[in-house]
Amino acid sequence: MYDNDLSGIVEADRAHVWHHLMQHRAFDAKDPRIIVEGRGLRVWDQNGTEFLDAVSGGVWTVNVGYGRESIGDAIRDQVVRMNYFAGSAGSIPGARFAEMLTDKMPGMTRVYYTNSGSEANEKAFKMVRQIAHKRYGGKKTKVLFRERDYHGTTIGALSACGQQQRAAQYGPFAPDFVEVPHCLEYRAQWDVENYGERAADAIEEVILREGPETVGALCLEPVTAGGGVIVPPKGYWERVQEICRKYDILLHIDEVVCGVGRTGEWFGYQHYGVKPDMVTMAKGVASGYAAIACLVTTEAVFDLFRTDAGDPLDHFRDISTFGGCTAGPAAAIENMRIIEAEGLLANTTEMGARLMAGLEGLKEKHACVGDVRGLGLFAGAELVADRKTREPMDEKLVAQVVGACDRRGVIIGMTNRSIPGFNNTLCLSPALISTGDDIDMIVEAIDAAIGEVAG
Ligand code: PLP
Repeated sequence: MYDNDLSGIVEADRAHVWHHLMQHRAFDAKDPRIIVEGRGLRVWDQNGTEFLDAVSGGVWTVNVGYGRESIGDAIRDQVVRMNYFAGSAGSIPGARFAEMLTDKMPGMTRVYYTNSGSEANEKAFKMVRQIAHKRYGGKKTKVLFRERDYHGTTIGALSACGQQQRAAQYGPFAPDFVEVPHCLEYRAQWDVENYGERAADAIEEVILREGPETVGALCLEPVTAGGGVIVPPKGYWERVQEICRKYDILLHIDEVVCGVGRTGEWFGYQHYGVKPDMVTMAKGVASGYAAIACLVTTEAVFDLFRTDAGDPLDHFRDISTFGGCTAGPAAAIENMRIIEAEGLLANTTEMGARLMAGLEGLKEKHACVGDVRGLGLFAGAELVADRKTREPMDEKLVAQVVGACDRRGVIIGMTNRSIPGFNNTLCLSPALISTGDDIDMIVEAIDAAIGEVAG
């Protein structure tokens, strides 16, 4: 039954809910926000206040927008017939969605279901280690990750965390995770023309320093999300692929944010013609209607675990209890059908261009907008105190810009507790159904908010 009774809801929340990523002292001065309803890009809070959600559920998740009855119906129909069985067995939506998904990912054939992005990445890290034991005499266990990238909240994933503030105080971490430099040209570390190739060469330098025989995988976001919406420079991905091939290193692409349409292609890596060995995804897979994440591999990776040596330890000895829930793939099938039927990849490209043009306009107008970056409906605006020196804007002021947008009825995000001194990028990821009017409203709100805070 739908619970329409909001009496005492704030009190219940205040007394018992521990909110994610929140310093609860914030609620000394104001009530927690309870999101009560959503439709399209709009959400309503407990007071009936309407917002345009320009971040798809706060963390780039609700790709097809709120209130999709057909996804609700698909979940209901599936769970009353068969809600769950452990993943050692199959399910109808599990098989159907795996087929649909791999059809969108030429070269990839196998889908391993799990239920969060962190967990999907953990599975990939475990596979790398097991492959090292099976094929390389226990060597090649190292996983390289990149400064500013994020791969999740578990201890394993935080061991591969390029955002110091996310990892701080949660150590000690797992060994054999090694950081490589970021590729953000606006914060250039090398004074060269071909920045993309140079930043990729920096990965090779780390491999050579560590010893290629010890490095099993390189794990990268196609476009860094929470680390500042970093779209890699030209030539970067091509060189990354070459390096992985040269040293027999598995390429693991973390599509948890970019995956399933966010950038205007089904997957972020598909903009660059890259051929990954492992791809992880979560948020947009079912747009948050049900919890589902996947690790997708090539048949070559899968085959490494299908050996017939009679060794009981030889296969991938892993399970995810809720990876066997059928609500996830049932929702994911309908989510993907909607994206295709409504032409949302094309809309994302078109509206993404409009969003970028709007942000470019803000850069011309406001000296504090230092850099704007984006791909599809996934964009960031880096705010600075001084355009010439590129000194980052104080994050308290950046938070005020976010707050001023909120007061205008538009929810936007910012790099949040990621990189000390560099939490200065406004983050945008409106749903793939955004219209021109929605995009204009987002840009206008940021324009006014910057004028109010920094004008
Ligand atoms: N990978 C990336 C790129 C992410 O942004 C996130 C979460 O924000 C994760 C992995 C972890 O996903 P989850 O929160 O579902 O564990």
